[in-house]
Formats: sequence, structure tokens, C-alpha cells
Amino acid sequence: MNSAAHYLVPFQRRGSIVGQADLAALADVVHSPDPLSAGVWRERFEQRFADLTGARHALSVTSGTVALELAVRLLDLAPGDEVIATPQTFQATVQPLLDHQVTVRFCDVDPDTLNMDPAVLESLITPRTRAILLVHYGGLPADMTRVLALARRSGIVVVEDCAHALGAAHRGVSPGALGDIGCFSFHSTKNITTLGEGGMITLNRADWAERVERLRGNEVDGVFVPVTDRAGEEPALLPWMRFSADVYRRAAVGIRGAGTNATLSEAAAAVGLVQLDALERFTERRRWIAGRLDAAVREFPGTRVQQVPEGSSHAYHLYTFFLTAGREAREGFVRALDRRGVEVQLRYFPLHLLPEWRLRGHGPGECPQAERIWFDEQVNLPCHPGLSDDQVDHLVDSVGHALREALIGTGGRRLAVR
Ligand SMILES: *Cc1c(COP(=O)(O)O)cnc(C)c1O
Repeated sequence: MNSAAHYLVPFQRRGSIVGQADLAALADVVHSPDPLSAGVWRERFEQRFADLTGARHALSVTSGTVALELAVRLLDLAPGDEVIATPQTFQATVQPLLDHQVTVRFCDVDPDTLNMDPAVLESLITPRTRAILLVHYGGLPADMTRVLALARRSGIVVVEDCAHALGAAHRGVSPGALGDIGCFSFHSTKNITTLGEGGMITLNRADWAERVERLRGNEVDGVFVPVTDRAGEEPALLPWMRFSADVYRRAAVGIRGAGTNATLSEAAAAVGLVQLDALERFTERRRWIAGRLDAAVREFPGTRVQQVPEGSSHAYHLYTFFLTAGREAREGFVRALDRRGVEVQLRYFPLHLLPEWRLRGHGPGECPQAERIWFDEQVNLPCHPGLSDDQVDHLVDSVGHALREALIGTGGRRLAVR
């Protein structure tokens, strides 16, 4: 049995709805004589994704994690380099850095948004800073205007983890088209899904796009030059051997590493296209649920909702609010919701406190806001288009009940309802 099956309102088994249109697209792929990998569906999906986000290049891959791994490969990090990263994200954002002898500087978050705090970011930049790895937390765009201004001044590459942010915008621009590299996830729980797993990497540089094309297609991550003096010795090739001819005409002058196979299947790409058609509808539904939750939470003193800055459009992959009445009140609230069949999860445990980062010298006190918020205040509630109207009603009703219960329980003090 699914562990979430007993919840009336599950947190997030699926982040989108997969239905008849997706099935019809799958049937098209299955019934066509075309290859099931690296064909027309992938091309269409990528083109549509680039159009939708405004990114110059969009290349699909097998997961958001792989997109982030490839993004870090593009940085060509050397020992002693520094990378600034947010601690308030899923571990896949920063895990690829463990493969490099770099210094990671975790940048504390703004307690109202949970995005990287630009003032702290500025204090962490040194002449050795090569890249900034940030997330648009929960689908709320980071303060890209200030982040990019700081990065551009010092030639720092900005990698956006857009796993939550498909459907969001910062001053009218989609995440993935704001920084230098964007990494998207189409995992089952994300804003759209390519049947459970999938991802996309968006890029503004043509040479990086070519490199990702090679890397995901099992070609070596090499630096090549054309060979001209072999023209005479070229073997007579049949048309299908054209690829071999290209190989024959180049010489490697450096090898950065091995390529891999990260090709998204045609079936997944075809479903991705259908999902993109539904994105606006899914996002509207998320915003509607979030609006109702904000209204319910605002009824109570001792709470604050996640702030959406002017010019930002939130995709609400996660709904987040804060219980400022203390750790005990939050515990009471979460338990009360659980009793009413509402599943609560807290996303995410501050990364700099994970064992692998502690081993590298990180620890408590490094990001005081991120730590305080996660241990004492933060709550994430179910918010996804799969919830029925009845489920949303039950959720909103339960949040009111649980807040009343938890806040009245705090030190025996009855808090007045505004
Ligand atoms: C889901 C997620 C990822 C990883 O994506 P996968 O497709 O599951 O590999 C990376 N970063 C964040 C913030 C995520 O939420």
C-alpha cells in the first residue's frame, strides 16, 4: 500500500494530472514506425519548452538530478574554486559539488521567502567565486535582479534549480531564462511529469548546449579540432556511416571526462508535450489552493505567510507558511492536521547540516535563518492540482481547526482570532 494512501489529503504523490490526452500521445508513439529514442517527439518537446521559457537552448535529460550534474560539469571547477549555494533546497541541487575539491559557501535565506538572501550573497563573494547555485524555493522566483547584478559584476555563473519553478515568472521572465543554466525536473511530484522521471537543462550559450548534447548522447566530453590532412585517406562510406566520418575528421586535444546516456525516451517526451499544454491550468489550480490557504492562515496571529515580492509570479510547487508561536505550537499544529487526515511534510532540512557537508566542515550557526525557520517555524501544506474541491475544502477547514487547537494550547494562552 502507498504510505500516503490513508491520508484524506495527501501531500504530493503526483504534482500534475495524467489523463486521456497523455494516453493518446502515448498511443501515437507506440503506433508510429519511428524510433522510441532520440526522435521527433523529443525535438518537439524541447522546441516547445524553449519557446515557453524563452531560453535559447533546451535539452531534455532523464532527470532533474542529471540536469544539475551536467550543469556542474559545465563549470569546469578546479580545486580551490568557490561555489555559493543555498542550504534550503533538495539535496540534488548541491550534491554534484561533492565530486569536486571546491569550497562551498552556503548562503543564508530570506526568512520571508526562503530564497537566497542577496545581502548575504554579496558578503560571500570572493575573487575565487566561480558559480552560484540557487533554487526558486517552492516555485517562488529568487531575487534574480539582485543576484544577477552581483554575478555579472564578477563574471560568476548562475545556475538556477528550476525543479519547482515551471510556470513561475520574475518580472515577466521564466526561470531557466534568467541565469546562465536552468535545471528542471519532471519527476512524479513536480509541476508537470514525463511519466514519473525526466528533466530539462536550459542554456544561454551555444557552446554549452553543444557540450550537453554530446554529454547526454554517450560522446566523450572532449575538446576537438578538425583534421584536414586525412581527407585523402578517407574510406568510402555508406550513407549510414556519416557519424563515423565525422569522428574520423576530428582529433581530440583534451578530454574533460566521460559522456553518459541521459536521453529522455520518445514516450516521455510525447507526454511532456501534452503536459505543457496543461501547465497553465495546473498552475492556476495551485494558485487558487494557495490563495485559500493564505486566507485561512492569515486569520490567526502567530502566523505569517510566504511573501511574494512585487513583480514575482509564484508557481506554488510548495505551499509554505510560518508558525511564529514557537516549536511546540508547530508540533501541535502538525499533529492536529495529521489526526484529520492531512499529510504535512517539511521541505527541506538545511543541507549544510547533512552528514556529508558536516564532514567537510559545515555545521550549525552557518545559516541561522535557514536553521531557525526549519527547526521552529516552517510548515508545507498539500497544494497540487490532483486535489478535488472536496479535498481542498477539508484541507482549508482542517488548517483553521488545527491552528486554533495549536495556538490555544500554547502556554494556555488563548489567542484571539482576528
Ligand atoms: C526534484 C528536485 C530535484 C531533482 O529532480 P529529479 O528529477 O527528481 O532528479 C532537484 N532539485 C530540487 C529542488 C527538486 O525539488
